[in-house]
Amino acid sequence: MPITPTKKIWMDGELVDWDKATTHVLTHTLHYGTGAFEGIRAYKTPNGVAVFRLREHIQRLFNSCKILMMDVPFTPDELFEATKDVVRVNELHDGCYIRPLVYLGYGEMGINTLPCPVNVAIAAWPWGAYLGDHGVENGVRMKISSWNRHAPNAMPTASKTVGGYVNSSLAKVEALKAGYDEAIMLGPDARISECTGENLFIVRDGQLISPPPSEAGALKGITQSSIVKIAHDLGFDVSFEAMRRDDLYLADEAFLTGTAAEVVPISSVDDRLVGDGAPGPITKAVQSTYFKAVRGEIPEYEDWLTRV
Ligand code: PMP
Repeated sequence: MPITPTKKIWMDGELVDWDKATTHVLTHTLHYGTGAFEGIRAYKTPNGVAVFRLREHIQRLFNSCKILMMDVPFTPDELFEATKDVVRVNELHDGCYIRPLVYLGYGEMGINTLPCPVNVAIAAWPWGAYLGDHGVENGVRMKISSWNRHAPNAMPTASKTVGGYVNSSLAKVEALKAGYDEAIMLGPDARISECTGENLFIVRDGQLISPPPSEAGALKGITQSSIVKIAHDLGFDVSFEAMRRDDLYLADEAFLTGTAAEVVPISSVDDRLVGDGAPGPITKAVQSTYFKAVRGEIPEYEDWLTRV
């Protein structure tokens, strides 16, 4: 999806012009992939633009860096404020996607990351539906990838590690080339893990089920946790259970969740229709509640919003 430039990018404490927010070609992370990032969204609400679950995203960024043994040279509060500054200064009143990145900068080469300088950048720009408006409304066609998700002892799956996304990209491109919208990845044990940048849920007998992130080697999604709360509040049971590809083929409904993708119905998996292929009633109920919650239209979920 193309990027629409905005005015300023926050880099190591300064607001830098978009075109000047560059880095040296010998930046360590470009070569070895050790770095961590977040994907955050802000939405237009009746009381001004608000960042969705900003605290949780900043916490996950610090957790990713802890796993990678990268010392972030800012506090969580400083990055919390910096994120708000980026949305404010770029006048993104209608909402935006926000990309904080912690990376190892210029000055060292070689596999040892410990002596490398740690840099932080935060950019934001307007971004539409990641899997397309048609997908959000009608559902997306999924393919189980031939690429497995990382074994947790090969790559830490709780960290949004820059280099870890090579695994996601291989699966995404394979699915697109084969004519599908998105890939579902199995863990090394052949259980369902997650999608390339989203978690997933199935609905069976009126109950929502998602793979347990830690056992499934999936990222613990902030959207996934929002959907768990919303589903409970709507009166549905939710459980975390290991599942296999048959469980997807035989689900009554299925959908995926992620900050960029938001909540997207799954219409088919490996060419088997999920239900009758149209978004099911429970998917539509949680999806529409999510869209209202992020836009500040439901007072119970105000805690999730940070006005800039
Ligand atoms: N899994 C992966 C691999 C992801 O990159 C993402 C996006 N951050 C997710 C799941 C969904 O997480 P969230 O809902 O917190 O955006």
